[in-house]
Amino acid sequence: MSMSINNTFNAPYPPPLMDAMGRPMRDLRISVTDRCNLRCTYCMPREIFDKNHVFLPRSDLLSFEEIVRVARVFVDLGIRKIRLTGGEPLLRRGVENLVRELAKLTDRNGIPVEVTLTTNGVLLAQKAFALKDAGLARLTVSLDGLSDAVFKRMSDVDVPVATVLNGISSAERAGFSSIKVNMVVKRHVNDHELLPMARHFRSSGITLRFIEYMDVGNTNGWRMEEVVTASEILETIGSQFPLQRTGAKDEVAQRWRYLDGKGEIGVIASVTQAFCSGCTRMRLSTDGKLYTCLFAEDAKADLKAMLRNGKTEEDLMKTISGCWKNRDDRYSQIRHQLTESQLKKIEMSYIGG
Ligand code: SAM
Ligand code: SF4
Ligand code: SF4
Repeated sequence: MSMSINNTFNAPYPPPLMDAMGRPMRDLRISVTDRCNLRCTYCMPREIFDKNHVFLPRSDLLSFEEIVRVARVFVDLGIRKIRLTGGEPLLRRGVENLVRELAKLTDRNGIPVEVTLTTNGVLLAQKAFALKDAGLARLTVSLDGLSDAVFKRMSDVDVPVATVLNGISSAERAGFSSIKVNMVVKRHVNDHELLPMARHFRSSGITLRFIEYMDVGNTNGWRMEEVVTASEILETIGSQFPLQRTGAKDEVAQRWRYLDGKGEIGVIASVTQAFCSGCTRMRLSTDGKLYTCLFAEDAKADLKAMLRNGKTEEDLMKTISGCWKNRDDRYSQIRHQLTESQLKKIEMSYIGG
C-alpha cells in the first residue's frame, strides 16, 4: 500500500542524476536534422552553409527507432522533457511519427514524458494538426521581426512573414495553447522591431521571448557590440508597456508580466546574465553524439556507434550517466576568460538550439 502511494505522489523516482556541479539532468534536446530552409545570419550564414557545405548523409542520421531507444534510456534516468530541434525539425520527413512514439514514453511512475518542438514556422501550417494529433505538448516558433524586409535580413531567404504567422495561427487552431515565440535580437538589424513585436503578441495568449544574440558556433562572426542586452530590451518594452518580474528567479527565461494584464514576455539573457548554474540540459546531435553544453567543442560520447555496435540499454545507461556525472560545463559564465584557441565550438544547427 505505502509503496504505491510513494510511487504515485512522491518526488520522481529515480532521483535525478547530478553532474559535477550539483545540477540535475532534467531535459533532453534532440536535433533531428542539420538541414534548414532558412539561413539565419546568426546560425547558418549563407557564406558557410552554401551549396558546397556537406550536410550529414542520411545513413549518419539516427533513425526514429534509434532515437526512441536512446530517449527511453534517458527517461529511465529521470528525464521528463524532450525538445525536438535542429536545423529545422519540420524538414525531417515524418517527424510527427517520431513525436507519436516519443509521446508514448512514460517514466517509472507512469507519467508521460513531455515532448516539445522548436521550429522556424515555415512548414508549420502544413504540420500543425499532425503534430498535435501525434501528442506534441508544446510549440516554440522562432520569428525575428514582423516586416518582410527585417525577416529577410535575419533569415537571408525570401519567405514572407505571413507564412510564419499563418503557421502560428494553424497551431492555435490545432489546439496548441501556451505557444512561445522566440526573437533573437541583433543591434541595428532588428532591434527596431522590439516594440512592434511586443504590440503584436500582447493579448494574444502567446508568450514572446527575446533572446540575446549568442556566440554559438564559429561561423556567425559574433561581436559583443551586436548584442542587445536583456536590460536594454526590458527598458525598451517597459517604457511603453510597464512590466513586473514574475516566475521563479532560477528559470532559464526571466519572466515579466505586463502590468495592464495583457500577458507575459520572457527574456533569455544567455550572454549578460549567464544561467549555467540552472542548466539541466543534455543534447543529442543529429548523428547521435552526446553534448553536455551548447558551447562544447567535443562530444562526450557517440551513441550512434554504440547502438550500431550492439551495445545494450545498460551500456547506454552507464555511458549517459557517466557523461552527466562528469559534467562541469559553464561556458557562459567564463566566456570572458577564454582564449581564441579555447573557443572552438560546435555549430548550433548540428547540435540543436
Ligand atoms: N530551426 C528551428 C528554429 O529556428 O526555431 C530550431 C533550431 S534553432 C537552432 C533553435 C533556436 O536557436 C532558435 O530560436 C534560434 O533563434 C536560436 N538561435 C540560433 N542561433 C542563435 C544565436 N546565435 N543566438 C541566439 N539564439 C540563436
Ligand atoms: Fe535554421 Fe533555426 Fe538556425 Fe534559423 S535558427 S538557420 S531557422 S536552424
Ligand atoms: Fe548550459 Fe553550457 Fe549554456 Fe552554460 S553555457 S547555460 S552550461 S549550455
